[in-house]
Amino acid sequence: MNVFSYSRLSLYELCPYRFCLKYVLGKPEPVTKALALGKAVHKAIELRSQGTPEDEAVVAGWIEADCHPEVHRDEIVGLLRNAPILKGKAEVHFELPLAHGSDLRLQGYIDLMGENGFIDWKTNWRTYGPMDTMQLPLYAWAYMQLRGVREATGILYFLRYKTPMSYRFTLHEAEAARRRACELANEIDTKVSCVELFPDMLRTEFPAQPGSHCKHCPFAMECYAANAA
Ligand code: SF4
Repeated sequence: MNVFSYSRLSLYELCPYRFCLKYVLGKPEPVTKALALGKAVHKAIELRSQGTPEDEAVVAGWIEADCHPEVHRDEIVGLLRNAPILKGKAEVHFELPLAHGSDLRLQGYIDLMGENGFIDWKTNWRTYGPMDTMQLPLYAWAYMQLRGVREATGILYFLRYKTPMSYRFTLHEAEAARRRACELANEIDTKVSCVELFPDMLRTEFPAQPGSHCKHCPFAMECYAANAA
C-alpha cells in the first residue's frame, strides 16, 4: 500500500483493526447518509460554481451520491445555497510524495483552491476547529506544494451554520503534519507487508481499538466475534 489519504490515515489512528478490514482485506462498508450527502453537496457546489443552474447541479449531486435513498433534494438545496460563491478552482486533485524520494504518497481533493488558501466544505452537524484533526494542516501542506508558497489560509466551512473556521498555516505547521502522515504511512506500509507474509499476525499488527466510535462501526459484530475468540 503506498497511496494514502487523510481519511485512510485517520481511520488507522482511530482503529487499526477497522482500517485493516476495510483497506487491507477490502471488506465493503455501507455508504452512510452522511457520506452520501457530503458527496452530493460537494458535486452540486462544484457545478454551481461553474455556472450550472441550481436544479441541474442538485440532480447531478444526487446522482453522484448514487441516488442514496436517505439523501433528499431539499437538504442538498439548503446546503448548496449556504455555500458562498467564491473565486477559485474547484475539486483540485493532488497526489504528492510524502518525503523526498519516497514512494509513499498522499492524495486528496481540495474543494476550492483560491489565491491565498483553500476551503473544505463540511456538511457535518458538529463543528470543530482547523487544528482539531490532521486534515486541514495536511491540505495546507499540499496547497503549499502545488502553489510553491510558504503560507496558506485553510478554511473549514460548515454549511449548516454558514460558519467558516479559518487558520493561517505556516510552512512549519504544515511540515509537522506532513511528517506525522509520513510516519503513519510508513508504519501501515510495513505492517501490510508483514501481514502479507504472515497472515496470522493480522490481529497483532492491526489491533482493535474500542471506543465510543464503535457504535458507528459496520464491523462491530465481526470484530466482537474475532476478538472474543
Ligand atoms: S467495533 Fe470498534 S474496535 Fe471493533 S473494528 Fe469497529 S471500531 Fe474497531
